[in-house]
Amino acid sequence: MAYDVVIIGSGPGGYVCAIKAAQLGLKTAVVEKNATFGGTCLNIGCIPSKALLHASEMFAEAGHAFDMLGIEVGAPKLNLKKMLAHKDATVASNVNGVAFLFKKNKIDSFRGTGKVIGAGKVSVTGEVSVTGEGGKVEEIETKNIVIATGSDVAGIPGVKVDFDEKVIVSSTGALSLAKVPGSLVVVGGGVIGLELGSVWARLGAKVTVVEFLDTILGGMDGEVSKQFQRLLSKQGFEFKLGAKVTGVAKSKKGASVTFEPVKGGAAETIEADVVLVATGRRPYADSLGLKEAGVEMDERGRVKSDGHLRTNVPGIYAIGDVIAGPMLAHKAEDEGVAVAETIAGQAGHVNYDVIPSVVYTSPEIASVGKTEEELKKAGIDYRVGKFPFSANGRARAMLHTDGFVKILADKASDRVLGVHIVGFGAGEMIHEAAVLMEFGGSSEDLARTCHAHPTMSEAVKEAALATFFKPIHI
Ligand code: FAD
Repeated sequence: MAYDVVIIGSGPGGYVCAIKAAQLGLKTAVVEKNATFGGTCLNIGCIPSKALLHASEMFAEAGHAFDMLGIEVGAPKLNLKKMLAHKDATVASNVNGVAFLFKKNKIDSFRGTGKVIGAGKVSVTGEVSVTGEGGKVEEIETKNIVIATGSDVAGIPGVKVDFDEKVIVSSTGALSLAKVPGSLVVVGGGVIGLELGSVWARLGAKVTVVEFLDTILGGMDGEVSKQFQRLLSKQGFEFKLGAKVTGVAKSKKGASVTFEPVKGGAAETIEADVVLVATGRRPYADSLGLKEAGVEMDERGRVKSDGHLRTNVPGIYAIGDVIAGPMLAHKAEDEGVAVAETIAGQAGHVNYDVIPSVVYTSPEIASVGKTEEELKKAGIDYRVGKFPFSANGRARAMLHTDGFVKILADKASDRVLGVHIVGFGAGEMIHEAAVLMEFGGSSEDLARTCHAHPTMSEAVKEAALATFFKPIHI
């Protein structure tokens, strides 16, 4: 039986694409090699990490903030097993939810490793079974193929790392440590390293971050990463910046990390109970047979795709982490929707200028659009408006006064070009900026929009006021 579209990979890119395609009336199938649907995000990424981030944040709040609010509960006691069980249950409910949605939308699914044999043909090997159809299938015919195979853990360039996922761990192992390490070295000061480092720091680990660049959260607005580093230092994080890791090895204590200053100088070795290597992810297109199928890849191993997510082979599309762009679940989802619409004859489109990104630490960091550094580099004249949460009534009431809102707007037109928030709930607040930017709004539009009082979001309004005139409450 021929499908309209076969999607290889059921992460947020693949599963959302499948649902949208089915909703648009396309005969749809998904090939997934994992035992459960949902890809990296639902199984070993966004969802389990957020379950642990929330639980550990509550633990830290109970230990530090409750007393100041007049709640005396004594020192909180950690039940790590139960916390990990909460994480596992959250994952299970989400991956089962995807299976339910596949069924509801009459999407067939094949368990096994998919391979592109050429335009219109996908083979499935392994434990091949099909839901909805019955029987074993080795080759599937389809009018369109969507490659949504995501990404995998990247190592450290030029350094051999033997992950045992107990002592030397990737993000996957760091989601399931059997006990809180006394000390944890995180190699890589990016989002994943700082989020998982925060989990274990809140539960009692002494965390040291070793980062190649001179700043953490490379690529984020400079002011944001500087302030965030100060806040994490207050939480007990130690940073070794501008440090090139040359070795990660098992040791008597646990593991050791050797690094030297990027600018040159003496090497240093630190020991820790656990080392988390969080240096980023690599696109995963292994064993897909893309070369043989004539699909072009770029120099970084990503599938090459055009503005409509088409590869160079007609009828083959690619989305998500396996192509260029930020490795984010919502970017993959939006690409999945756009491809399904394109295949259905509609005008699928993703606005890459308005993709929010969030770091789910305490406080959260959220941004959308350009950083100040990017605007300077592009020679764009801009205005800056800032407002600190220390001057926001709701933030004071909740003891969440750390951080600020920063808005960047075009000097001539006042059009908002970038919004950056450090603060409690930043990941929710960023979306009013995203909607504004999607409609090409100005800082004055934002400032003249009535915001409920008392809310953290009033700081966004005040920062907008500060961009073209003056804030009220400072
Ligand atoms: P994936 O989710 O990687 O899914 C790809 C799927 O394809 C997998 O299920 C894989 O088994 C399957 N597959 C691969 N090859 C084959 C084959 N040949 N045949 C069959 N199946 C195949 N992003 C956010 O936006 N927010 C977050 O908070 C966030 N937190 C994260 C935390 C961690 C610890 C990690 C590791 C990542 C996090 N991410 C987060 C990133 C996010 O998980 C990815 O951007 C997202 O999962 C990419 O989706 P995808 O559909 O492209 O690929």
